[in-house]
Amino acid sequence: MFIRRAPNTYEKIQALGGMASDDILSRPEGRTTRPYSAPRNNPAPGVYRSALPNGKYVNLMRVMFTDFCKMDCAFCPNSHWVPRRRFAFKVDELANAFMEMYRRHTVTGLFLSSGVAGTGSKTTEKMIKVVDLIRNKHGFGGYVHVKVMPGTEQEYVEAAYRLGTRLSVNLEAPNPELMTKLSAMKEQRRDILAPMGWIDRLTRSAANGAVGQATQLVVGAADETDWDIFERIDQLYGQWNLKRVYYAAFRPVRHTPLEEHPPTPLEREHRLYQVDWLKRVYRYSNEELKLAFADDGLLPLDADPKTSIAVYNLDAFPVDVNTASREELLRAPGVGPASAQRIVTNRRRHSIDSWRDLQVMGVVRKRAWPFLTLPGYRPPRAKQLKMDLFRADAERPRLSVAPAAQQGGHAHSAAPCGVERSCTGCPMYGAPGHPGAVMSKAA
Ligand code: SF4
Repeated sequence: MFIRRAPNTYEKIQALGGMASDDILSRPEGRTTRPYSAPRNNPAPGVYRSALPNGKYVNLMRVMFTDFCKMDCAFCPNSHWVPRRRFAFKVDELANAFMEMYRRHTVTGLFLSSGVAGTGSKTTEKMIKVVDLIRNKHGFGGYVHVKVMPGTEQEYVEAAYRLGTRLSVNLEAPNPELMTKLSAMKEQRRDILAPMGWIDRLTRSAANGAVGQATQLVVGAADETDWDIFERIDQLYGQWNLKRVYYAAFRPVRHTPLEEHPPTPLEREHRLYQVDWLKRVYRYSNEELKLAFADDGLLPLDADPKTSIAVYNLDAFPVDVNTASREELLRAPGVGPASAQRIVTNRRRHSIDSWRDLQVMGVVRKRAWPFLTLPGYRPPRAKQLKMDLFRADAERPRLSVAPAAQQGGHAHSAAPCGVERSCTGCPMYGAPGHPGAVMSKAA
C-alpha cells in the first residue's frame, strides 16, 4: 500500500510560496507588463522581491496559508475544479517559519494570502492568528499584508485591520453582474464589496491599524470591457481611497470551466496599468481618459493611451517648455511627473534651451519631440500630420459614454456613505442594508 508522507515545512513553503506568486498582488510593484518570473528572481522559496514607492527593494515572505479552496472561481488554479495535491500550514508552524526567515535576514515582511478553506471568516481568523503570534508573541513590528478572504465577517476584518499594515480583498470582476460569470458562489456585494467598505471606514477612522487597502481584478475572464474596469477603478480610487488596483491578465487553467477561453494578451494588462497611472499619478480627468478608449470600450493594444489622447488633442500642442504649466507639460508624451517637476524647478534659474537639457531632466526625446517647443525649435506640424500612426490614431472612433445621471442614476449630495456623487455605479449600490441602495431603488 502506498502511503504518502506528510509534507514538511520547507515543502509547504515551496508549494504555497509558488501558489502565492500567481497572485498579482504579490508581484513587485512596477513589474507589470510581464508575469513575475519566480524561479529567476526569487532569492529562496517563498521569498519575493518587492519594490517600494521610493524605488528600493525589500524581500517579503509571500505565502498562502493554504491552497485548499472550496470556491468555484472559474479562472483560479486553487478553485475546487482543479484536481491536485493541496497543502496547508498550521498556525504556529507558519509563524515560526516566518520568524526564522526574519531572524536570518532573509525577509523583512510578510504577505499572507490563502484559499477559502471552510468559510471566509474561519480562514481569515487563522491568518489573523498567524499575524497575532508574530506581532504579540515574537514582537515583530514590520510590514504585514493580509489578504482578507471573501465573505469574511466584520469582526474578523476589524481584527485584521488592527494587526496588518496593508489589507486587500480581491475584487476579481468590475461589477456584481460580471462576477456571476466567474463564480456562482461569490456574491460580489455581500462577500467582497462589504468587507472593502468596512476596511475603508476603518482606514479613515483615527484608530491604529492598517494604512490602506489594495485590490485585484482579473482581466478578460468575464468578457468585460476596459471601460467597465475603468469605471470601477475610478470609484475605488475616488470613493474608497484605494492605494493600488492590480490587474491580472486571464490565463486559462486546465480543468476549470474557462479552460477553453482564450488568454488575455499581456498588452491589455499593460494598457490598463498605463490608464491607471494616468488617473492616479498624472491626475487626468475622466473626460480626457475617455479619449484613450475605442468605441467598443477597449483600449487599443497598439496605441499608448497618453500618446493617443495627445494626438486627439493635437491643437493643444506643442507646449513651450519655458512657459507651460506643470499640468500642460505632463500631458506631453515623454514627460513624466519627475521630469515635469525638474523642468519647472530648473527654468526658474535659467531658460531651457536644448534637447540635451531636457534629456538630462528625464524627458524621452523620441516620444516628446512632436509635442514640445524650445527656443529655436518648433516641431514641423506638417510632418506631424503626415505621420501614419498619428493620423490613424486621430481618426480612431472614440468611446462615447453618457454621464451617470443619464444612465439611470441620480446624483445626491450628503449621501449616507459620505460621498457626493451619483448612486449609479457606487461600489455599495444595492448592497444589503446600505441606505444609498434604498434611496436608489426608491428613485
Ligand atoms: S476564492 Fe480565491 S483562491 Fe478560492 S477559487 Fe476564488 S480566487 Fe481562487
